[in-house]
Amino acid sequence: MRTQQQWMDLRQQHNIEGRAFINGQYQDSLSGETFEVINPATEEVIAYVARCSDQDAIAAVEYAKGAFRSGEWAGQSPAARKQVLLKLADLIEQEKETLALLETLDTGKPISHSYQTDIPGAASCLRWYAEAIDKIYGEVATTEHNVHAYITHQAVGVVAAIVPWNFPLWLACWKIGPALAAGNSVILKPSEKSPLTAIFLGQLAQQAGLPNGVFQVLPGFGHEVGDALARHHDVDCIAFTGSTRVARQLMICSGESNMKRVWAEAGGKNANIVFADYKNLDKAAQETAAGCFYNQGEVCVAATRLLVHESIKEEFVRKVIAASEAFTPKDPLDPSSSMGALIDQEHKNKVLSYIRQGVEEGATQLCGGSVQCKGAFVSPVILDNVTNDMTVAQEEIFGPVLCVIPFSTEEEAIQIANDSPYGLGAALWTSDLDRAHRVARKLEAGSVWINNYNEGDMTVPFGGFKQSGNGRDKSLHALEKFTEVKTTWLRLGSY
Ligand code: NAD
Repeated sequence: MRTQQQWMDLRQQHNIEGRAFINGQYQDSLSGETFEVINPATEEVIAYVARCSDQDAIAAVEYAKGAFRSGEWAGQSPAARKQVLLKLADLIEQEKETLALLETLDTGKPISHSYQTDIPGAASCLRWYAEAIDKIYGEVATTEHNVHAYITHQAVGVVAAIVPWNFPLWLACWKIGPALAAGNSVILKPSEKSPLTAIFLGQLAQQAGLPNGVFQVLPGFGHEVGDALARHHDVDCIAFTGSTRVARQLMICSGESNMKRVWAEAGGKNANIVFADYKNLDKAAQETAAGCFYNQGEVCVAATRLLVHESIKEEFVRKVIAASEAFTPKDPLDPSSSMGALIDQEHKNKVLSYIRQGVEEGATQLCGGSVQCKGAFVSPVILDNVTNDMTVAQEEIFGPVLCVIPFSTEEEAIQIANDSPYGLGAALWTSDLDRAHRVARKLEAGSVWINNYNEGDMTVPFGGFKQSGNGRDKSLHALEKFTEVKTTWLRLGSY
């Protein structure tokens, strides 16, 4: 990988594209308005991006619908779509350096993470769906002999993918991959806080051979564009990742328009339970720190609530404090950095105010906090003596803040873990096999990790119970979101 200086040099060579990608070409927004994109590590403006509005959304939907109806993409064989998506994955890999640099400048995340994880993750996601799509068959129903009924899966039509800022390209590909593979037209609406890699993807999609209108990118500010897409009668499906608040709003828009499917991957407040019988507390402590502080804690499945048995609490927390030192914030362009800047100053202030509130409500701050330098840096914070009814234990902070909550019995641990409006992920650490399965079964979460935190690859579904959302990203299950099930009946002997 490049050195810090070489990444900075590469930055100088790039003219960053900020226009929307509509119907196969880059365009300014119809109003001509733009918004600033700021590097949160340096506070410099790095790009001016098209501020699209309702009018741009209306135009893009028309192109998307036209492309879908034309059958230019949806009507191709799965094997043909596969070739185009494989090419797109290859192009992402070829442009890995540029994409990683854009991701890091835009979000403040460490360059090694962008380069080694996010961008390769995006490419391999597309490749996975490309490879899968020509291996999925329909069904023949077990009907009477005088009829024949078969069940097929058909693309839903126009999909609006509305995504957040924490893993911009990677999470976008979790939507784009299955949606395009299934034959839909996709309009990608990136977050205004991190639109650059999505915009860059437009030209790669063109190069790969996606027909005009099949893949478009509409940057917009806040609710702009997203709201228009969610209310549009020709958008058939919203694939959303973001906050529970906005997910709810999108469901209202759907109900007030055409009842489009709204698939939501939303927030989390995940419990990580450490039982006293677990033999390798050093490993558990390292994964607890990484589970909470990776990506500056800006992760929906971050291990933010540490439920630890009271008999080992002091020892275990000491180990977690030591492990959290691996996450000392540094310049994100330094390849040795494992923690960068938060997404922006506003978010940093929000995270700091949660920490203050936690202390006011009775928690003890053991380490970390604001880093006094330019940029939105916060070092890992551990709050001890937290009870599950405190604001810091109930609300999603989305920053590097770990809440320590002791428990005395297995039942109590399960009760605390499930006492949350969210149900995205949960983990438990135990050397007792019976307990592992007993507890895993009772946890109200879409993913449960036993003796690890946050294992995952494309083969497994990802999503939440309760207010963490509905539907699943990743795996073959994600295709269910982007396809309709059709039953076709044929009466035999009727010709
Ligand atoms: P957000 O909900 O504020 O924004 C998400 C997207 O929605 C952005 O593109 C934003 O511009 C757009 N948007 C905002 N208001 C809108 C409105 N009224 N109508 C339509 N679109 C609107 O979320 P965020 O701050 O970007 O991301 C952080 C959140 O995402 C956290 O809650 C986190 O847990 C969640 N998240 C969930 C997952 C998951 O898989 N469950 C993964 C990553 C992030």
